Amino acid sequence: MVTLRQTFRLYPTASQKNKLFYARSLHQLLYNACLAHRRYEWKVNRKSVGYLDQQNILPAYKDCWPEYKGLYSTSLQGTVKRVDLAYNSFLKGLRKFPRFKSIRDYSGWTYPSTSGWKVNSNGKHGTLVLNDLKIQIRMRGKAKHWGKPTTLTVVYKPRLNQWFASITVKVDVPEPKYGSESDLNYESVVAYDLGTQTAITTFDGSEFNEIKNQRFTRALEPLLKTAGKDKRRKRAPNRKQRVKPSSRWKKANKRESQIKRKIGNQRKDWQHVLMQSLMGETPKTALHRKVTSDLSSRYDIGVTEKLNTKGMTRKAKKGSKRKNQKVGLNKSILDVGFGSLNKMLSYKIELKGGIVLYLPTKQLKPSQRCPKCGKIHKHWANLSNRYHVCDQCGFRLSRDKTSAMVMYNAALGNQPGYGNDLDKRGFPSSTSKTSKHTGSMKQLGKMKRQKSRSSDGSAETPSLYRAG
Ligand SMILES: [Zn+2]
Repeated sequence: MVTLRQTFRLYPTASQKNKLFYARSLHQLLYNACLAHRRYEWKVNRKSVGYLDQQNILPAYKDCWPEYKGLYSTSLQGTVKRVDLAYNSFLKGLRKFPRFKSIRDYSGWTYPSTSGWKVNSNGKHGTLVLNDLKIQIRMRGKAKHWGKPTTLTVVYKPRLNQWFASITVKVDVPEPKYGSESDLNYESVVAYDLGTQTAITTFDGSEFNEIKNQRFTRALEPLLKTAGKDKRRKRAPNRKQRVKPSSRWKKANKRESQIKRKIGNQRKDWQHVLMQSLMGETPKTALHRKVTSDLSSRYDIGVTEKLNTKGMTRKAKKGSKRKNQKVGLNKSILDVGFGSLNKMLSYKIELKGGIVLYLPTKQLKPSQRCPKCGKIHKHWANLSNRYHVCDQCGFRLSRDKTSAMVMYNAALGNQPGYGNDLDKRGFPSSTSKTSKHTGSMKQLGKMKRQKSRSSDGSAETPSLYRAG
């Protein structure tokens, strides 16, 4: 069972729109009220208010403001929960202190369970029924995978002036093909290396496949820069000083957001093209032709290294000599969108009963190891070394291909210098309970079984389907 998010566009009638806007404003006011309540209790009484405290006073709140009686109670709880989540991520140091939200920044509300709403669709166009607002809205869109709808978030995008239904669905995953070691089919393994020059290099034991990074962000970047400059020259709004934006500023602002959207869409398209070729299909060269085919492919097992894109894209320290270099690297990494690519890959392979292995980069050192004799060459790690020649066995190959090959070998337990002694080296193995990702193919069977259990009910949200 995999949980995926699917987004549909809503087409409410004029009167339905009024109801939606009204509900949104009520949820926004509730959000701010919860926030004010927490702040006040802390400031005056030094008392911290939790989610349950607020949930328990919701009935009293509704008695005071009867307009909330028309809204579904779990959706109100969902809004209270949003405040709780904002506080929690603040306490973890992930976000700033939660602020009061203006209606402009308030996107919508959530129905956290299956009750209170109904979707009449089998993954294609249909209608959405909201019980509390007593409306049935026309809905358009097409889900790539459809299953049992579990939660609904109603989203309004002010810039587009459009409404969306973001629905999480539980999709059945076929029985894992690899129940035991003897089931493993070595022909369906593909190792892939994500790089900055070549976006992706794959190796399936006999064949390499390289896909170049398109770098569209770079093509559009000058346009975005000019648009931003253009905008800065116009009179911007300032709510504190009650300055309204000039109509020229609005126009420039619109132009800028159009370019931003375009960059985002291009990146998404590119990821689809990448995915397609990764799964052994012929990639369509026209970037804007959307990938629609289902991924019944020749590979069931993907192998890659554990990437720390967060660390890789971190800003260089102030005054660092590597600053410019780092900026360039960051841009290419973000162009490809490594994180979401990895996510897309793993859920697509999982959807057809396959699996993705993440090899431990630090121990395996795929970018420094010779695939033939296993010797570690420290200077290979330098990004400017594009072509590798082994001084021990004479093996020669380009950088990205070498890494893909090392990872392929390691997954099959055939990599010299790394090979089968994973347990001795203290890597997570299938026998240790904490193991999530293992290194070797032999540990695959058990790992898959663990994985299918743990992925049950998790609300993984592939960015592919995130609205916008
Ligand atoms: Zn060698």
